[in-house]
Amino acid sequence: MTDRFTGSFTQQEPIPDEAIEAALAVLRHGRLHRYNVSDGELGETALLEQEFATQTGARYCLAVASGGYAMATAMRAVGVQPGDAVLTNAFTLAPVPGAIASVNARPVFVGVTEELTIDLDDLASKADQAKVLLLSHMRGHLCDMDRLMEICDAEGITVIEDCAHTMGAAWRGVPSGRQGAIGCYSCQTYKHVNSGEGGLLITDNEELAAKAVMLSGSYMLYERHLAAPGPEVFERIKYHTPNVSGRMDNLRSAILRPQLKDLNAQVARWNERYQTLEAGLRDVPGLTVIERPAEESYVGSSIQFLLLDWTPEAVQEAIARCSARGVELKWFGADEPAGFTSRYDSWRYAQSERMPASDRVLTGIVDMRVPLTFSLDDCALIARIIRAEVSAVHQSQL
Ligand SMILES: *Cc1c(COP(=O)(O)O)cnc(C)c1O
Repeated sequence: MTDRFTGSFTQQEPIPDEAIEAALAVLRHGRLHRYNVSDGELGETALLEQEFATQTGARYCLAVASGGYAMATAMRAVGVQPGDAVLTNAFTLAPVPGAIASVNARPVFVGVTEELTIDLDDLASKADQAKVLLLSHMRGHLCDMDRLMEICDAEGITVIEDCAHTMGAAWRGVPSGRQGAIGCYSCQTYKHVNSGEGGLLITDNEELAAKAVMLSGSYMLYERHLAAPGPEVFERIKYHTPNVSGRMDNLRSAILRPQLKDLNAQVARWNERYQTLEAGLRDVPGLTVIERPAEESYVGSSIQFLLLDWTPEAVQEAIARCSARGVELKWFGADEPAGFTSRYDSWRYAQSERMPASDRVLTGIVDMRVPLTFSLDDCALIARIIRAEVSAVHQSQL
């Protein structure tokens, strides 16, 4: 009964051979800058953008240096000004309020529900405070996107989607990132495709697309894009849009293109692992599994559960016992941010009122990464370990 898990929670799969070959080709010809193309050459970055636009059904796509840069660019493109309020999730990761701060705007945090999605009643009540919502699909949980868009459309709020955890996910079959005015993705190592660093931005709006291209640092070379609007759109904005360099390069694009082609297969592999874990965590007294709505197609690249109304000491004991058996759980309830777990009251540059209902949820959130290097047997073992240790601590609390 004292099995131990010995795998690594931070080890991703290797880069596929096809991507390594493509990267070597770029290294050998040396044209790494996206606009450094030979006669008639399209360039890996322009092709990446064209392919991701097709894959998501978007008219326009821009590849950039990071997910955080994509979000900041989206906010600049929609016209967020210094001092403006921007609505965003209380439950998200630090680069989201950080992107808002980077354009000198002010985050207004919206609460989180027990489903780990944005609290739509709280959003409705704060809708008059801002013209933009930076919606983070944190840990891949999609809220009722129909109701969210209804609220935002009625109030004239522009929605920018942070799809760092929902690349490959959908709401009622619509790819995540396609409901809002702009969808932003991250290609950083811990997300769904891995180029070390990187980001993608999609939109159907020609003006926003042209502004984003100019912002990313295209000088006047925008005609070398394959998923950007025509030159007449650039004519309207090019003298009024600053260059805030944050381009994607051809080396990373070469690594990403084969991975994006494989995305659906990878999503299926993540979900097998997720579902094995979820099944193993059902019916544990004191542990709440997060139920997924039928409208949502998710990517199970991480799993969360709630230890609702547990004392901090009991949560810490359960986590320590799992850790002693090789299972690394992260807790969003600690007073001090640790690693990537922070929450709205950790970001002290942004003032917020306390949200007691959200605090109750945040204090109970336990989070675990699911790298594809885990086998299904690994996932079953991990679930057995969590089950045993959570049950033991829960029992002792009664
Ligand atoms: C990783 C992440 C981002 C930003 O991505 P970077 O590429 O690291 O800048 C944005 N939002 C969430 C929720 C993330 O986890």
